[in-house]
This record gives sequence, structure tokens and C-alpha cells, in this order.
Amino acid sequence: MSTVKKLVDVSHQIAKEKGWWDDERNDAELIALMHSELSEALEAMRNHATQEDIAEELADCCIRIFDYCGARGIDLQKAIRAKIKKNRSRPYRHGNKKF
Ligand SMILES: [Mg+2]
Repeated sequence: MSTVKKLVDVSHQIAKEKGWWDDERNDAELIALMHSELSEALEAMRNHATQEDIAEELADCCIRIFDYCGARGIDLQKAIRAKIKKNRSRPYRHGNKKF
């Protein structure tokens, strides 16, 4: 089993065990919670938090994404591989984009 698949499975399993899936959840709420973890990472940076604190918030975001993919049956490993392949084939700065 792939590492990403394991992370998706364990993240979703823990979330279920902790009661986060006792009731059906809506996608908008789950996406907002992913955003919230990135905001927490930004706030940690603004407060000169340690690199470990910032990493923890980024990990929170990844875990929420893994949990979501587990709940919705999304093959994240396949999507990541496909996107990396696509990005590798794109031109320098994706056609001279600024950001
Ligand atoms: Mg957090």
C-alpha cells in the first residue's frame, strides 16, 4: 500500500474513532476547516512561532485533506502523481505567470 494511501486511511480512521463522522458532514464545512489550518499556520508565522509550530499547522491541513479524501473515496495518491506529471511537462513558470 502506498504511503499516501496509508495516511488517508489512518487519518480518516482516527477521525471516525473520535466521532467526527458520526453525522454526515458537508463539503463546504470541510474545505473551510482545511483553510482554517492554513490561516493558523500564517498566524503562527506572524507571531514568530517555532518552525515546529508552523509545521504542526501544515500537518493539520494535510490531515484534514487526507480525512476528506478517505471519507469521499478520493484517490489522492493517483491525483498527486498525475498532477506532478502534468506540472513537470508545463513550461517555465507555466508560461511566464508572475505567481
Ligand atoms: Mg491547527
